[in-house]
Amino acid sequence: MDKTEPKVRYRCDLCGNITRFDIVESMTVKSFYHYGIDGELNKEDPVTITRVIESVSCRWCNSPKNVKEIQEGQDLGEDHATEHPAES
Ligand SMILES: [Zn+2]
Repeated sequence: MDKTEPKVRYRCDLCGNITRFDIVESMTVKSFYHYGIDGELNKEDPVTITRVIESVSCRWCNSPKNVKEIQEGQDLGEDHATEHPAES
């Protein structure tokens, strides 16, 4: 059940980092606690009820100030090579 995460990415405008961030998030999770006779606990079927991103810091700049949220599919600033039409 971890496919429910929204496709949100981040980018640090200061250094251009799009891959490494320190995320602080709060989650409310409901799960089925299944105790064995010996008292051993198995946590089953965890369901995330709420998930709140508290802060996102750039791993390199160590600062949340320049980190922007970007949607999946949005241009990440990568240079995709454009095909030049054949000169003929
Ligand atoms: Zn950065």
